[in-house]
Amino acid sequence: DSLKPSNFLRQVIDRDLAQGTYAGRHWAGHPADAATHQAGQPDPARIRTRFPPEPNGYLHVGHAKSICLNFGLARDYGGVCHMRFDDTNPEKEEQEYVDSIKDAVRWLGFSWDANGTSHLYQASDYFDFMYRAAEYLIQAGLAYVDEQTPEAMRASRGDFGKPGVDSPFRTRSVDENLARLREMRAGKLPDGAAVLRAKIDMASPNINMRDPALYRIKHEAHHHTGDAWCIYPMYTYAHPIEDALENITHSLCTLEFEDQRPFYDWLLDRLREGGLINTPQPRQYEFARLNLTYVITSKRKLKALVDEGHVGGWDDPRMPTIAGLRRRGYTPESLQLFSERIGVSKANGWIDFSILEAALRDDLDPKAARAMAVLDPVKLVIENWGEVMGSDDKLDECTAPVHPHDESRGRRKFMFGRELWIERSDYEETPPKGFFRLFPGNKVRLKYGHVVECIGATRNAATGEIETVRARLVPDTKSGTPGADAVKVKGNISWVGVADGIKAEVRLYDRLFSVAQPDTTEGRDWREELNPESLKVVTAYLEPSLASAKGDEKFQFERHGYFVADRKEHAGGKPVFNRITGLKDSYGK
Ligand code: ATP
Ligand code: MG
Ligand code: MG
Repeated sequence: DSLKPSNFLRQVIDRDLAQGTYAGRHWAGHPADAATHQAGQPDPARIRTRFPPEPNGYLHVGHAKSICLNFGLARDYGGVCHMRFDDTNPEKEEQEYVDSIKDAVRWLGFSWDANGTSHLYQASDYFDFMYRAAEYLIQAGLAYVDEQTPEAMRASRGDFGKPGVDSPFRTRSVDENLARLREMRAGKLPDGAAVLRAKIDMASPNINMRDPALYRIKHEAHHHTGDAWCIYPMYTYAHPIEDALENITHSLCTLEFEDQRPFYDWLLDRLREGGLINTPQPRQYEFARLNLTYVITSKRKLKALVDEGHVGGWDDPRMPTIAGLRRRGYTPESLQLFSERIGVSKANGWIDFSILEAALRDDLDPKAARAMAVLDPVKLVIENWGEVMGSDDKLDECTAPVHPHDESRGRRKFMFGRELWIERSDYEETPPKGFFRLFPGNKVRLKYGHVVECIGATRNAATGEIETVRARLVPDTKSGTPGADAVKVKGNISWVGVADGIKAEVRLYDRLFSVAQPDTTEGRDWREELNPESLKVVTAYLEPSLASAKGDEKFQFERHGYFVADRKEHAGGKPVFNRITGLKDSYGK
C-alpha cells in the first residue's frame, strides 16, 4: 500500500484493509461530532488513528515519534488521524499546554483540519456519554460503587501470584449502586469517599482486571467543562470510549499499556453488547516508547528542569521538547526522517542521540547556505599587505559558493585585507605532529583567498596570551586566479575579515546530561547527572553574508557545524546564533 518499509503495525493495517475489517463503518452521531458527522452516514476514512496527549506539559521528542507514526500512517493509508486532548484529569491541565501542543503538531507538518473530515477532539466532550455508559454498566450488573477506604482497596487488590479479595460493597443491588453513583455525581460525597468500579474478577492473573476503578470523585474545576462535574473518569475507562466514539480503527500506544488491553477489549465488548457503541470496535496495539540517549522524556521531569531553573524555559534549545528542538534549529523534516529511521518495535531499548543528529545533518546538508565564522577569534596581521597591494587599507573581494553542490544559488562575497580574524586554535608556536596550519615558517591558504606564510606571533606581556598572529602574503596565489595552485599548501583555514566581519553572540550548546542513560541509576538523582557545560556563550565574527540572516534561518558554518539564528532573540543589529550540531558525530565517543 505504500513504499515505506514495512513494520508490524503496517502489516496489521494491510491485513485489516485486505480483509475489509473496517469497511462499511458508519457514524454513531454522538453530540460531540454533530458538526462534522451525521448519524448513520458512512465513514469515508479507510483507517483512523489518533494522537491523544494529556495537556499537562510541552510535547517532547518521544511524542514527535508518536505524532509522526499516527499522522504518518493515516496519511499513507488514506485515513485520518485525530488530534485529541485527553483532558480527563482536571488537575495540571492548562491552556498554555493546549496551545503549545497544537503548535508543535502543526509545526511538525501535520494538521487535523485539512480535509474537513477531521477536527479537534477533546475527551471532555464525551463526559456525558461516559457517565451514561457508567449507569448502563451498573444496570447490567457490571459495575458497583465501592466505599472502602483507599488503603483497604489497595490491600484487597492482591498482588502478582496473590489473588485479590472481593469488596464488601461488591454485592450491592443495582438500585443502591445507581443511587450512590448519582449522589457522587451530585457532589454529596467528598473526594476519596467512593469510586465506581467495574465488576470483573478479583482473582484475575492480570491485576488490571481486578475490578478496575472507572470513576473517582474530584471536587475540582476543569479547564474545559468548568464546574459541571465533580466526578471524573479514569484514563483506562475513558480512553477506549474516546476511541470507539471517534471510529478509531487502530489505537496505538506505548508498551506500558499492554496489560491494559484486556480491559480495553472487555469494556468495548460490554458497551457493544449494550448497543452503546458501533461495530467494528477499535483495537489497541502497543509499540516501544522512544528512549533517547542523553535525554529525559518525562513531562514531569522536564517541568522540574524548567521550574528549578536548570534551563531557561520549555523552549530552551537544550530541552528535548519539540519547542526546544525547534529553537535549537531542528527542522520538521529532520524529525520526520528520524522517526522513519528508528521505525517501530515491540521491545524497549535506547536509540542513540547520534541518529537524531544524523537525520538533522542529512536534512540540512543540501539546504543550508554555507558561511565562514570564527568562534574563538585571534587577529592575523599580514605585514606585507600594503607593500604587495599598494596600500594597507586596500581590500580584496573574495567569493565562495552559497552551496558547494548548487552553483545556481550564487556566490557570497567578503573582503580580504591586512587584518583577519582566525581561530585561536589554528596557530601553534611548536606544532604537534600532523599539524598543518599556522606555525612559524609554514604556509597555509586562507580559504577562497590568498596563501600566507606565518612568521610568528606577538604575546601580551602580562598574560603571555597570543594577541596577534603575524604573516606575510605570498603574491599571486589568490584562489581562482591562474597559477594560484603553484604554491602547494597542506593547510586551508577559515577566516573573517576585520573590515567587514559581523560581531555576534554564538551559543555553543552541548548535551544537557553527561550520562548516556540519565535517570536510570539506582540511588542517584537525575539532577546530579546534568552536564555543567551544556551551554557556552562566545563572541564570534561572521562573514558579512550573514547580516541578512532571519530568525530561524539555518546555516552551515564551514568547519564548525550547523547553526541557526535564534528564533526568539536574533535581531539584525544584535545577531544571536545557536549551534545545532557539529559536522560529525560527537556522541557515543
Ligand atoms: P510523559 O510520560 O512524558 O508525561 P505521556 O505518555 O504521559 O508522556 P501523553 O500526553 O499521555 O504523555 O502522550 C501522548 C501520546 O504520546 C501517547 O499516545 C503516548 O503513547 C505517546 N508518547 C509519550 N511518550 C512517548 C515516547 N517516549 N515515545 C513514544 N511515544 C510516546
Ligand atoms: Mg499519559
Ligand atoms: Mg506519563
